[in-house]
Amino acid sequence: LQGDGEGLSATEKEFEKALRPLSFGDFTGQQKVVDNIKVFVQAAKRRSEPLDHVLLHGPPGLGKTTLSHIIANELESNIKITSGPVLDKPSDLAGLLTNLESHDVLFIDEIHRLNPIVEEYLYSAMEDFRIDIMLDSGPNARSVQISLNPFTLIGATTRAGLLTSPLRARFGINARLEYYDAQLLTTIVKRSAAILNTPIVDDAAFEIARRSRGTPRISNNLLRRTRDFAQIKGDGTITKAIAQMALKALDVDENGLDEMDNRILSTIIEKFKGGPVGLTTIATAVGEEAETIEEVYEPFLIQEGYIKRTSRGRETTERAYKHLKLVPPASKSR
Ligand code: ADP
Repeated sequence: LQGDGEGLSATEKEFEKALRPLSFGDFTGQQKVVDNIKVFVQAAKRRSEPLDHVLLHGPPGLGKTTLSHIIANELESNIKITSGPVLDKPSDLAGLLTNLESHDVLFIDEIHRLNPIVEEYLYSAMEDFRIDIMLDSGPNARSVQISLNPFTLIGATTRAGLLTSPLRARFGINARLEYYDAQLLTTIVKRSAAILNTPIVDDAAFEIARRSRGTPRISNNLLRRTRDFAQIKGDGTITKAIAQMALKALDVDENGLDEMDNRILSTIIEKFKGGPVGLTTIATAVGEEAETIEEVYEPFLIQEGYIKRTSRGRETTERAYKHLKLVPPASKSR
């Protein structure tokens, strides 16, 4: 149930596509980011210029891909989609870039994972809309310059801190997406339920929303599973009782923490006396990759005040002890 978009199956992708908002009007929340981007899009259109390159960052499942599609729609442009790890060689990138039409959008997901050589080629493409390609090697090697149609690069990343400074400097627009509050997620759950033709009562929508780790992707996934419970254990309508039953079956606790969240907290407390303990040590102990803990789990646990990051590692807070119904050690609680 984690918020990562990477390991999605084909049906899950279909499902996401069906629920994906297509215009700014359909996109709930992130008000400030959306308001700003709307202005930049309109201004670029009015001047018949490409939109400045956009960097979107924030935890997985908050709407970076969705927003990129919306930007392309509003620009009335095409969008080409790729990701950092897929662009293995400069020729992969050159192939994409030379096929872009004027004012098209190129979306690169996980842009912090670009091969450094490919990244280097991206600099001149972003800055001057041209690329220098080396043909042949050895004594015959020569470089040819190819000019590109003016385009907009939208880069998405869960780890803005890992971007090199030359790359970061080439984005004119930089926006951070934040976790959604329960109210906004309730709106998203209701909208998704309507698209899926599933009746849902307000209390139930709120219950799913407030237990979704602030993440629309998780709200939608929980809604989908809850709908199954409503059809099999109920009369098809998602009531609060059905939602509670489904969330319990899915190991989502009262505060919306999932099994891995709870495992991380109990491991820090039980094996490492509440910390401080290093990320890789935690990762080994819970059997999850350090990167996933850092990108997916930890940001939410920190925001909700279950964990703190200190210079010596991660520490659980009093809230984590209370959550697990444990007594915090006296010396650490104040
Ligand atoms: P990211 O690229 O940040 O990982 P996505 O854009 O793929 O996230 O969003 C994941 C899912 O959540 C999509 O299916 C989309 O329908 C839904 N979603 C994300 N943001 C919103 C939003 N603001 N309003 C409605 N649905 C959203």
